[in-house]
Amino acid sequence: MKQKVYIETFGCQMNVADSERAASGLRRAGYELTDSCETADVVLLNTCSVRERAERKVFTRIGEIRKSADHKQLLGVMGCVAQLEGDSIFKAAPTVDMVIGTRATDRIAGMIQRLQDGETAVMDLDERAEGEFWDTSPVERHSPYIAFVPIIEGCNKFCSFCIVPYSRGREKSRIAAEIVDEVKRLKDLGYKEIHLIGQNVNSYRPKSELGLENRPGATPFSRLLRAMAETGMQRIKFTTSFPRDFHPDIVTAIEEYPNLCDWVHLPVQSGSDRVLKAMRRGYTAADYLRRVDRIKSSSRPLSLTSDIIVGFPGETETDFQETLKLVNQCQYDSLYIFKYSRRTGTPAAQLKDEVSESEKTERFLRLESVQREAQRIVFENYVGRQLSVLAERLSTRSDSDMVGHSTCHKVVNFRGEQSLAGQVVTVQITKAKTNSLFGEQVRN
Ligand code: SAM
Repeated sequence: MKQKVYIETFGCQMNVADSERAASGLRRAGYELTDSCETADVVLLNTCSVRERAERKVFTRIGEIRKSADHKQLLGVMGCVAQLEGDSIFKAAPTVDMVIGTRATDRIAGMIQRLQDGETAVMDLDERAEGEFWDTSPVERHSPYIAFVPIIEGCNKFCSFCIVPYSRGREKSRIAAEIVDEVKRLKDLGYKEIHLIGQNVNSYRPKSELGLENRPGATPFSRLLRAMAETGMQRIKFTTSFPRDFHPDIVTAIEEYPNLCDWVHLPVQSGSDRVLKAMRRGYTAADYLRRVDRIKSSSRPLSLTSDIIVGFPGETETDFQETLKLVNQCQYDSLYIFKYSRRTGTPAAQLKDEVSESEKTERFLRLESVQREAQRIVFENYVGRQLSVLAERLSTRSDSDMVGHSTCHKVVNFRGEQSLAGQVVTVQITKAKTNSLFGEQVRN
Protein backbone atom coordinates (compact mmCIF):
# COMPACT_ATOMS: atom_id res chain seq x y z
CA MET A 1 0.00 0.00 0.00
CA LYS A 2 1.19 3.49 -0.84
CA GLN A 3 2.21 5.73 2.05
CA LYS A 4 0.08 8.81 2.52
CA VAL A 5 1.35 12.39 2.82
CA TYR A 6 -0.68 15.31 4.16
CA ILE A 7 0.48 18.87 3.46
CA GLU A 8 -0.88 21.90 5.32
CA THR A 9 -0.01 25.29 3.88
CA PHE A 10 0.28 28.66 5.64
CA GLY A 11 1.03 32.06 4.12
CA CYS A 12 1.35 33.42 0.63
CA GLN A 13 0.66 32.14 -2.89
CA MET A 14 4.34 31.23 -3.20
CA ASN A 15 3.85 28.74 -0.37
CA VAL A 16 0.75 27.33 -2.09
CA ALA A 17 2.84 26.87 -5.26
CA ASP A 18 5.67 25.25 -3.25
CA SER A 19 3.22 22.79 -1.68
CA GLU A 20 1.85 21.94 -5.14
CA ARG A 21 5.39 21.37 -6.39
CA ALA A 22 6.31 19.23 -3.34
CA ALA A 23 3.11 17.17 -3.76
CA SER A 24 3.86 16.58 -7.45
CA GLY A 25 7.35 15.30 -6.61
CA LEU A 26 6.09 13.06 -3.80
CA ARG A 27 3.41 11.52 -6.04
CA ARG A 28 6.05 10.85 -8.71
CA ALA A 29 8.12 9.12 -6.02
CA GLY A 30 5.20 6.76 -5.24
CA TYR A 31 3.43 8.50 -2.36
CA GLU A 32 -0.30 9.19 -2.18
CA LEU A 33 -1.48 12.67 -1.14
CA THR A 34 -4.32 12.86 1.38
CA ASP A 35 -6.61 15.54 2.83
CA SER A 36 -6.69 13.82 6.20
CA CYS A 37 -4.03 14.73 8.71
CA GLU A 38 -5.10 11.94 11.08
CA THR A 39 -4.65 9.06 8.66
CA ALA A 40 -1.45 10.29 6.98
CA ASP A 41 1.90 8.53 7.38
CA VAL A 42 3.76 11.79 6.82
CA VAL A 43 2.56 15.27 7.83
CA LEU A 44 4.22 18.35 6.32
CA LEU A 45 3.58 21.90 7.58
CA ASN A 46 4.53 24.50 4.98
CA THR A 47 5.19 27.59 7.05
CA CYS A 48 5.21 31.40 6.83
CA SER A 49 7.44 33.77 8.80
CA VAL A 50 6.45 37.18 7.44
CA ARG A 51 4.89 38.17 10.76
CA GLU A 52 5.51 36.83 14.25
CA ARG A 53 1.95 35.55 14.61
CA ALA A 54 2.30 33.34 11.51
CA GLU A 55 5.49 31.86 12.91
CA ARG A 56 3.94 31.10 16.31
CA LYS A 57 1.02 29.34 14.61
CA VAL A 58 3.35 26.56 13.44
CA PHE A 59 4.43 25.62 16.93
CA THR A 60 0.81 25.57 18.11
CA ARG A 61 -0.02 23.28 15.19
CA ILE A 62 2.91 20.94 15.99
CA GLY A 63 1.54 20.68 19.55
CA GLU A 64 -1.94 19.82 18.25
CA ILE A 65 -0.64 17.16 15.87
CA ARG A 66 1.59 15.60 18.53
CA LYS A 67 -1.19 15.58 21.17
CA SER A 68 -1.44 11.84 21.02
CA ALA A 69 1.29 9.81 22.70
CA ASP A 70 1.53 7.71 19.56
CA HIS A 71 4.05 9.49 17.37
CA LYS A 72 4.04 7.06 14.46
CA GLN A 73 3.45 9.77 11.87
CA LEU A 74 6.56 11.45 10.50
CA LEU A 75 6.35 15.22 10.91
CA GLY A 76 8.17 17.73 8.73
CA VAL A 77 8.37 21.52 8.89
CA MET A 78 8.95 23.08 5.48
CA GLY A 79 9.02 26.64 4.10
CA CYS A 80 10.19 29.93 5.54
CA VAL A 81 10.24 29.02 9.25
CA ALA A 82 12.23 25.88 8.40
CA GLN A 83 14.78 27.85 6.37
CA LEU A 84 15.23 30.52 9.06
CA GLU A 85 15.18 28.43 12.21
CA GLY A 86 17.03 25.37 10.89
CA ASP A 87 17.98 22.83 13.54
CA SER A 88 16.72 25.03 16.39
CA ILE A 89 13.28 23.65 15.39
CA PHE A 90 14.42 20.22 16.58
CA LYS A 91 15.32 21.79 19.95
CA ALA A 92 12.10 23.80 20.28
CA ALA A 93 9.93 20.92 19.06
CA PRO A 94 11.81 17.62 19.52
CA THR A 95 8.98 15.57 17.97
CA VAL A 96 9.67 17.13 14.55
CA ASP A 97 11.48 14.67 12.25
CA MET A 98 12.35 16.83 9.23
CA VAL A 99 13.29 20.45 8.56
CA ILE A 100 12.84 21.19 4.86
CA GLY A 101 14.19 24.52 3.56
CA THR A 102 12.50 26.68 0.93
CA ARG A 103 14.65 25.28 -1.91
CA ALA A 104 14.44 21.60 -0.86
CA THR A 105 10.88 21.01 -2.15
CA ASP A 106 12.09 18.47 -4.75
CA ARG A 107 14.10 16.39 -2.26
CA ILE A 108 11.48 15.47 0.34
CA ALA A 109 11.02 11.85 -0.78
CA GLY A 110 14.75 11.26 -0.18
CA MET A 111 14.50 12.82 3.28
CA ILE A 112 11.56 10.56 4.22
CA GLN A 113 13.59 7.58 3.02
CA ARG A 114 16.52 8.58 5.24
CA LEU A 115 14.21 8.69 8.26
CA GLN A 116 12.83 5.28 7.38
CA ASP A 117 16.39 3.98 7.09
CA GLY A 118 16.94 4.95 10.70
CA GLU A 119 18.31 8.49 10.63
CA THR A 120 16.76 11.04 12.98
CA ALA A 121 16.34 14.81 12.70
CA VAL A 122 16.87 15.07 8.94
CA MET A 123 17.44 18.60 7.62
CA ASP A 124 18.00 20.16 4.16
CA LEU A 125 18.52 23.92 3.88
CA ASP A 126 20.51 23.77 0.63
CA GLU A 127 20.00 25.59 -2.65
CA ARG A 128 18.07 24.00 -5.52
CA ALA A 129 20.11 21.37 -7.29
CA GLU A 130 21.06 21.50 -10.98
CA GLY A 131 18.20 20.15 -13.14
CA GLU A 132 15.41 20.77 -10.61
CA PHE A 133 12.78 22.83 -12.38
CA TRP A 134 9.26 23.92 -11.61
CA ASP A 135 7.04 20.98 -12.44
CA THR A 136 3.57 20.89 -10.94
CA SER A 137 1.12 18.19 -11.84
CA PRO A 138 -2.46 19.42 -12.51
CA VAL A 139 -3.70 16.92 -9.89
CA GLU A 140 -1.95 18.94 -7.17
CA ARG A 141 -3.14 22.40 -8.26
CA HIS A 142 -5.31 24.23 -5.72
CA SER A 143 -7.99 24.79 -8.38
CA PRO A 144 -8.95 23.07 -11.64
CA TYR A 145 -9.48 26.48 -13.31
CA ILE A 146 -6.87 28.80 -11.80
CA ALA A 147 -3.16 28.05 -11.67
CA PHE A 148 -0.33 29.81 -9.85
CA VAL A 149 2.73 30.01 -12.07
CA PRO A 150 5.90 31.10 -10.22
CA ILE A 151 8.18 33.16 -12.48
CA ILE A 152 10.72 34.42 -9.93
CA GLU A 153 11.84 33.13 -6.54
CA GLY A 154 13.52 35.01 -3.69
CA CYS A 155 14.10 38.70 -3.10
CA ASN A 156 17.07 41.10 -3.49
CA LYS A 157 15.37 44.17 -2.08
CA PHE A 158 16.29 43.84 1.62
CA CYS A 159 13.57 46.18 2.89
CA SER A 160 14.55 46.76 6.50
CA PHE A 161 11.39 45.19 7.97
CA CYS A 162 11.22 42.10 5.81
CA ILE A 163 12.41 38.56 6.43
CA VAL A 164 11.87 37.28 2.87
CA PRO A 165 15.45 37.77 1.53
CA TYR A 166 16.67 35.60 4.42
CA SER A 167 13.99 32.91 4.12
CA ARG A 168 13.90 32.66 0.34
CA GLY A 169 17.35 33.74 -0.80
CA ARG A 170 18.27 35.85 -3.82
CA GLU A 171 16.04 36.53 -6.84
CA LYS A 172 16.16 33.79 -9.44
CA SER A 173 13.98 34.03 -12.56
CA ARG A 174 12.72 31.11 -14.60
CA ILE A 175 13.52 31.01 -18.29
CA ALA A 176 10.59 32.47 -20.29
CA ALA A 177 10.43 29.52 -22.71
CA GLU A 178 9.76 27.18 -19.76
CA ILE A 179 6.99 29.47 -18.46
CA VAL A 180 5.42 29.79 -21.94
CA ASP A 181 5.38 25.97 -22.28
CA GLU A 182 3.77 25.57 -18.86
CA VAL A 183 1.06 28.14 -19.66
CA LYS A 184 0.30 26.52 -23.04
CA ARG A 185 -0.04 23.14 -21.28
CA LEU A 186 -2.38 24.69 -18.69
CA LYS A 187 -4.48 26.18 -21.48
CA ASP A 188 -4.74 22.79 -23.20
CA LEU A 189 -5.84 21.28 -19.87
CA GLY A 190 -8.70 23.79 -19.68
CA TYR A 191 -7.34 26.28 -17.14
CA LYS A 192 -9.03 29.66 -17.55
CA GLU A 193 -6.78 31.87 -15.45
CA ILE A 194 -3.15 31.99 -14.42
CA HIS A 195 -1.46 34.11 -11.77
CA LEU A 196 2.18 34.84 -12.49
CA ILE A 197 3.63 34.93 -8.99
CA GLY A 198 6.80 35.98 -7.17
CA GLN A 199 7.79 38.18 -4.22
CA ASN A 200 8.42 40.87 -6.86
CA VAL A 201 7.09 39.57 -10.20
CA ASN A 202 8.10 42.69 -12.10
CA SER A 203 11.75 42.29 -11.05
CA TYR A 204 11.76 39.32 -13.45
CA ARG A 205 15.20 39.09 -15.08
CA PRO A 206 16.04 35.69 -16.59
CA LYS A 207 19.61 34.68 -17.45
CA SER A 208 18.68 33.83 -21.03
CA GLU A 209 16.52 35.39 -23.77
CA LEU A 210 14.95 32.01 -24.56
CA GLY A 211 11.21 32.53 -25.03
CA LEU A 212 11.47 36.33 -25.15
CA GLU A 213 12.82 36.56 -28.71
CA ASN A 214 10.72 38.92 -30.85
CA ARG A 215 8.73 40.05 -27.80
CA PRO A 216 8.89 43.84 -27.62
CA GLY A 217 8.90 45.78 -24.38
CA ALA A 218 10.94 48.00 -22.10
CA THR A 219 11.72 45.38 -19.44
CA PRO A 220 11.98 41.57 -19.35
CA PHE A 221 8.75 41.49 -17.34
CA SER A 222 6.69 43.53 -19.80
CA ARG A 223 8.12 41.36 -22.60
CA LEU A 224 7.11 38.25 -20.65
CA LEU A 225 3.59 39.68 -20.21
CA ARG A 226 3.30 40.02 -24.00
CA ALA A 227 4.60 36.45 -24.47
CA MET A 228 2.02 35.24 -21.93
CA ALA A 229 -0.78 37.12 -23.69
CA GLU A 230 0.20 35.55 -27.02
CA THR A 231 -0.32 32.03 -25.58
CA GLY A 232 -4.05 32.79 -25.73
CA MET A 233 -4.60 31.95 -22.04
CA GLN A 234 -7.99 33.53 -21.27
CA ARG A 235 -7.08 35.52 -18.15
CA ILE A 236 -3.61 36.46 -16.91
CA LYS A 237 -3.04 38.10 -13.52
CA PHE A 238 0.26 38.86 -11.81
CA THR A 239 1.29 39.63 -8.25
CA THR A 240 3.15 41.16 -6.38
CA SER A 241 4.67 44.17 -8.18
CA PHE A 242 7.49 46.10 -6.52
CA PRO A 243 6.99 49.88 -6.99
CA ARG A 244 10.62 50.74 -7.87
CA ASP A 245 10.57 48.23 -10.75
CA PHE A 246 7.09 49.17 -11.97
CA HIS A 247 7.79 50.40 -15.50
CA PRO A 248 4.95 52.23 -17.33
CA ASP A 249 5.34 49.71 -20.16
CA ILE A 250 3.51 47.18 -17.93
CA VAL A 251 0.40 49.34 -18.26
CA THR A 252 1.01 49.69 -22.01
CA ALA A 253 1.10 45.88 -22.31
CA ILE A 254 -2.21 45.63 -20.39
CA GLU A 255 -3.70 48.19 -22.78
CA GLU A 256 -2.57 46.12 -25.77
CA TYR A 257 -3.87 42.72 -24.64
CA PRO A 258 -7.38 42.20 -23.20
CA ASN A 259 -6.34 38.85 -21.67
CA LEU A 260 -3.84 40.68 -19.40
CA CYS A 261 -6.20 41.39 -16.50
CA ASP A 262 -7.15 44.87 -15.31
CA TRP A 263 -5.64 44.63 -11.82
CA VAL A 264 -2.34 45.82 -10.32
CA HIS A 265 -1.22 45.04 -6.76
CA LEU A 266 1.42 47.62 -5.84
CA PRO A 267 2.36 47.63 -2.12
CA VAL A 268 3.35 51.12 -0.96
CA GLN A 269 3.96 50.28 2.77
CA SER A 270 3.90 53.97 3.89
CA GLY A 271 3.05 57.45 2.62
CA SER A 272 5.89 59.11 4.54
CA ASP A 273 9.22 59.66 2.78
CA ARG A 274 11.02 59.49 6.12
CA VAL A 275 9.51 56.06 6.89
CA LEU A 276 9.98 54.81 3.30
CA LYS A 277 13.67 55.69 3.63
CA ALA A 278 13.96 53.88 6.98
CA MET A 279 12.19 50.91 5.38
CA ARG A 280 14.78 51.05 2.53
CA ARG A 281 12.08 50.85 -0.11
CA GLY A 282 14.08 52.86 -2.66
CA TYR A 283 11.28 55.25 -3.68
CA THR A 284 9.50 58.32 -2.34
CA ALA A 285 5.75 58.88 -2.08
CA ALA A 286 6.00 61.11 -5.19
CA ASP A 287 7.78 58.32 -7.15
CA TYR A 288 5.02 55.92 -6.13
CA LEU A 289 2.27 58.38 -7.08
CA ARG A 290 3.82 58.78 -10.56
CA ARG A 291 3.33 55.01 -11.08
CA VAL A 292 -0.21 55.31 -9.78
CA ASP A 293 -0.88 58.19 -12.21
CA ARG A 294 0.08 55.98 -15.15
CA ILE A 295 -2.21 53.20 -13.82
CA LYS A 296 -5.12 55.55 -13.21
CA SER A 297 -4.76 57.28 -16.58
CA SER A 298 -4.77 54.00 -18.50
CA SER A 299 -7.20 53.72 -21.42
CA ARG A 300 -8.54 50.62 -19.63
CA PRO A 301 -9.93 51.21 -16.13
CA LEU A 302 -7.52 49.31 -13.84
CA SER A 303 -8.13 48.12 -10.33
CA LEU A 304 -5.37 49.07 -7.87
CA THR A 305 -4.64 47.36 -4.54
CA SER A 306 -1.85 47.78 -2.01
CA ASP A 307 -0.22 46.77 1.31
CA ILE A 308 0.59 49.15 4.16
CA ILE A 309 2.48 48.60 7.41
CA VAL A 310 1.44 50.80 10.35
CA GLY A 311 3.62 51.37 13.42
CA PHE A 312 7.04 50.93 11.80
CA PRO A 313 9.68 51.94 14.43
CA GLY A 314 9.83 55.73 14.69
CA GLU A 315 6.59 56.32 12.75
CA THR A 316 5.15 59.56 14.17
CA GLU A 317 1.63 60.92 13.94
CA THR A 318 2.87 63.25 11.16
CA ASP A 319 4.24 60.26 9.21
CA PHE A 320 0.97 58.43 9.69
CA GLN A 321 -0.95 61.48 8.42
CA GLU A 322 1.14 61.24 5.22
CA THR A 323 -0.01 57.63 4.84
CA LEU A 324 -3.65 58.65 5.30
CA LYS A 325 -3.17 61.37 2.69
CA LEU A 326 -1.63 58.95 0.18
CA VAL A 327 -4.41 56.42 0.72
CA ASN A 328 -6.99 59.13 0.06
CA GLN A 329 -5.16 60.09 -3.13
CA CYS A 330 -4.81 56.53 -4.46
CA GLN A 331 -8.44 55.45 -4.06
CA TYR A 332 -7.42 51.81 -3.73
CA ASP A 333 -9.85 49.05 -4.66
CA SER A 334 -8.62 47.27 -1.56
CA LEU A 335 -5.85 47.54 0.96
CA TYR A 336 -4.11 45.00 3.19
CA ILE A 337 -3.10 46.72 6.41
CA PHE A 338 -0.48 45.13 8.68
CA LYS A 339 0.73 46.13 12.11
CA TYR A 340 4.53 46.19 12.08
CA SER A 341 5.90 42.93 13.43
CA ARG A 342 9.54 42.82 14.57
CA ARG A 343 11.46 40.11 12.70
CA THR A 344 14.73 39.00 14.29
CA GLY A 345 17.60 39.25 11.83
CA THR A 346 16.19 42.18 9.85
CA PRO A 347 17.80 45.66 10.12
CA ALA A 348 14.58 47.18 11.53
CA ALA A 349 14.73 44.77 14.47
CA GLN A 350 17.68 46.87 15.77
CA LEU A 351 15.65 50.10 15.77
CA LYS A 352 14.83 51.26 19.27
CA ASP A 353 11.99 53.68 18.73
CA GLU A 354 9.16 51.19 18.79
CA VAL A 355 5.54 52.22 18.41
CA SER A 356 3.38 50.80 21.22
CA GLU A 357 0.95 47.99 20.47
CA SER A 358 -2.02 50.19 21.39
CA GLU A 359 -0.80 52.95 19.06
CA LYS A 360 -0.40 50.42 16.23
CA THR A 361 -3.95 49.19 16.81
CA GLU A 362 -5.28 52.75 16.87
CA ARG A 363 -3.54 53.61 13.56
CA PHE A 364 -4.68 50.33 12.04
CA LEU A 365 -8.32 51.17 12.86
CA ARG A 366 -8.05 54.76 11.63
CA LEU A 367 -6.48 53.68 8.35
CA GLU A 368 -9.05 50.93 7.97
CA SER A 369 -11.87 53.41 8.37
CA VAL A 370 -10.37 55.84 5.79
CA GLN A 371 -9.93 52.95 3.36
CA ARG A 372 -13.45 51.67 4.01
CA GLU A 373 -14.92 55.02 2.99
CA ALA A 374 -12.72 55.28 -0.14
CA GLN A 375 -13.51 51.67 -1.04
CA ARG A 376 -17.24 52.24 -0.64
CA ILE A 377 -17.09 54.85 -3.39
CA VAL A 378 -14.81 52.71 -5.60
CA PHE A 379 -17.13 49.69 -5.21
CA GLU A 380 -20.29 51.73 -5.83
CA ASN A 381 -18.80 52.83 -9.13
CA TYR A 382 -18.95 49.21 -10.25
CA VAL A 383 -22.75 49.14 -9.92
CA GLY A 384 -24.26 49.13 -13.40
CA ARG A 385 -21.06 47.80 -15.01
CA GLN A 386 -20.71 44.37 -16.58
CA LEU A 387 -17.78 42.28 -15.35
CA SER A 388 -16.31 39.09 -16.71
CA VAL A 389 -16.35 36.61 -13.82
CA LEU A 390 -14.74 33.18 -13.52
CA ALA A 391 -17.31 31.17 -11.54
CA GLU A 392 -15.43 29.19 -8.90
CA ARG A 393 -17.83 27.60 -6.39
CA LEU A 394 -21.18 27.82 -4.64
CA SER A 395 -21.36 30.63 -2.10
CA THR A 396 -21.00 29.51 1.53
CA ARG A 397 -24.05 31.68 2.34
CA SER A 398 -26.52 30.41 -0.24
CA ASP A 399 -26.97 27.30 -2.38
CA SER A 400 -28.44 29.39 -5.17
CA ASP A 401 -25.47 31.77 -5.49
CA MET A 402 -22.15 31.22 -7.18
CA VAL A 403 -19.01 33.12 -6.30
CA GLY A 404 -16.01 33.95 -8.41
CA HIS A 405 -13.49 36.67 -9.21
CA SER A 406 -13.70 39.33 -11.89
CA THR A 407 -10.73 40.17 -14.13
CA CYS A 408 -10.23 43.18 -11.81
CA HIS A 409 -9.97 40.68 -8.92
CA LYS A 410 -13.20 41.53 -7.13
CA VAL A 411 -15.16 38.81 -5.36
CA VAL A 412 -18.46 38.67 -7.27
CA ASN A 413 -21.59 36.78 -6.12
CA PHE A 414 -24.43 36.07 -8.53
CA ARG A 415 -27.46 33.76 -8.83
CA GLY A 416 -26.27 30.55 -10.40
CA GLU A 417 -25.75 26.83 -10.02
CA GLN A 418 -22.73 24.70 -9.27
CA SER A 419 -22.71 23.51 -12.90
CA LEU A 420 -21.33 26.96 -13.85
CA ALA A 421 -18.08 26.29 -11.96
CA GLY A 422 -15.12 26.81 -14.26
CA GLN A 423 -17.04 28.95 -16.74
CA VAL A 424 -16.36 32.58 -17.49
CA VAL A 425 -19.65 34.48 -17.37
CA THR A 426 -20.72 38.11 -17.73
CA VAL A 427 -22.27 39.58 -14.61
CA GLN A 428 -24.19 42.86 -14.45
CA ILE A 429 -23.31 44.39 -11.08
CA THR A 430 -26.40 45.43 -9.10
CA LYS A 431 -25.09 45.88 -5.56
CA ALA A 432 -21.81 46.80 -3.83
CA LYS A 433 -21.00 45.33 -0.42
CA THR A 434 -17.98 46.23 1.73
CA ASN A 435 -15.57 43.73 0.18
CA SER A 436 -17.56 42.12 -2.62
CA LEU A 437 -20.00 42.81 -5.43
CA PHE A 438 -23.34 41.23 -6.23
CA GLY A 439 -24.98 40.92 -9.65
CA GLU A 440 -27.02 39.01 -12.21
CA GLN A 441 -25.62 36.84 -14.94
CA VAL A 442 -26.11 38.33 -18.41
CA ARG A 443 -27.21 35.64 -20.85
CA ASN A 444 -26.25 36.28 -24.45
N1 SAM B 1 7.58 41.85 -1.85
C1 SAM B 1 6.42 42.61 -1.69
C2 SAM B 1 6.78 44.06 -1.38
O1 SAM B 1 7.49 44.31 -0.42
O2 SAM B 1 6.35 44.96 -2.10
C3 SAM B 1 5.48 42.05 -0.62
C4 SAM B 1 5.69 40.67 -0.06
S1 SAM B 1 5.33 40.41 1.68
C5 SAM B 1 5.41 38.70 1.74
C6 SAM B 1 3.62 40.77 1.88
C7 SAM B 1 3.35 41.93 2.81
O3 SAM B 1 3.60 41.58 4.15
C8 SAM B 1 4.23 43.15 2.58
O4 SAM B 1 3.82 43.90 1.50
C9 SAM B 1 4.12 43.89 3.88
O5 SAM B 1 3.06 44.83 3.86
C10 SAM B 1 3.81 42.77 4.89
N2 SAM B 1 4.99 42.58 5.78
C11 SAM B 1 6.20 42.12 5.45
N3 SAM B 1 7.02 42.14 6.53
C12 SAM B 1 6.30 42.63 7.57
C13 SAM B 1 6.58 42.90 8.93
N4 SAM B 1 7.79 42.70 9.45
N5 SAM B 1 5.58 43.39 9.70
C14 SAM B 1 4.35 43.61 9.18
N6 SAM B 1 4.04 43.37 7.90
C15 SAM B 1 5.00 42.90 7.10
